[in-house]
Amino acid sequence: MNIPLMDIQRQNRQLKKRLHEAVQRVLESGTFISGEENRLLEAKMKRYTGAKHAIGVNSGTDALILSLRACGIGRGDEVITTPYTFYATVEAILQVGALPVFVDIHDRTYNIDVEQLQLALSEKTKAVIPVHLFGLPANLQEIRAFADRHNLVVIQDACQAAGAAYHGQPIEAWGDLICLSFYPTKNLGACGDGGMILTNNDEYANRLRRLQTHGTYKKYHHAEVGYNSRLDELQAAILSVKIDYLPQWNQQRQKNAKQYNHAFKDLPIGLPVMPDDRDHVCHLYVLKTEKAPELMNYLQEHGVGSGIYYPLPLHRQIALKNKYKSLDLARAESAAGKTVAIPVYPELTEDEKAFVIEKVKTFFTQEGRR
Ligand SMILES: *Cc1c(COP(=O)(O)O)cnc(C)c1O
Repeated sequence: MNIPLMDIQRQNRQLKKRLHEAVQRVLESGTFISGEENRLLEAKMKRYTGAKHAIGVNSGTDALILSLRACGIGRGDEVITTPYTFYATVEAILQVGALPVFVDIHDRTYNIDVEQLQLALSEKTKAVIPVHLFGLPANLQEIRAFADRHNLVVIQDACQAAGAAYHGQPIEAWGDLICLSFYPTKNLGACGDGGMILTNNDEYANRLRRLQTHGTYKKYHHAEVGYNSRLDELQAAILSVKIDYLPQWNQQRQKNAKQYNHAFKDLPIGLPVMPDDRDHVCHLYVLKTEKAPELMNYLQEHGVGSGIYYPLPLHRQIALKNKYKSLDLARAESAAGKTVAIPVYPELTEDEKAFVIEKVKTFFTQEGRR
């Protein structure tokens, strides 16, 4: 069998007719930036998440950068976040000139450990960026309470968590600004780059719309140094087709993950936790094992794709120039390099899942012990 870690062509093939119609509609309309397709996607996203404003941008990374800028965060400010995420989370903080302040993760959820937030707080702290890693919402109730106590903004990095819920409400209900990525392999993926910011705050929404179009307040009149960061009409049209399927795709991901969790429950590995009070949208299904490289090799020999998310925590990245040399984040260090993602996408067949399960089990019970 050949079961890649990700295979976006499966959903694109299933939706071929609708996607081709959407692309053709845009080509014939002649409007490629800021048109009806964006308005339609924004309306659908608002209905789905309950958010008051939805602003399409160029990427998830831009969604983070523009959100920070919309809150006026820049040089001299500190932003609390996790060292265990995709680099873009921290890159965005650095891009606006602010300082990332890392707190360690919770060892079972891999999300920011809310117990540590207080230790990271200073007079310069302006925001917290929790990341809903692998699709599991962070502890939003505690983060919200902490932020409200100290007058901080909560910018949720939901790039891996489109459609996730927490305490029975969409995650959008809990944060000031919610950043989504439509990178092709995300739960809601475009056929190119794309991103979106969701917010209930009118002021942030106005500022974001201005920032994304060169700081323009009236044609050829610019109030500030902004960006060129828009979602193009082709991507918006494609996403409008796909968003209709997001709830069922997320459900199927969850079902696959639960099936794996059940099958692996007696193996000597760390399994993803799926707390009852939140909707894990299972962007990635990640196992924790001391034998990560051996497991990956074994799976590869049998045609099963896998990947390590993430091999090096962010406070150890070269780009951060040893600024965090003395920082001891034991749980992030311990997770790095031991987390192996295996295929969990909704289009997996029963046969494929059974094959993956058999191979993982065999690795941990027999051959893998070589
Ligand atoms: C994918 C991702 C991003 C960046 O999104 P892009 O659309 O690729 O710019 C940011 N944060 C996290 C956690 C991500 O997974």
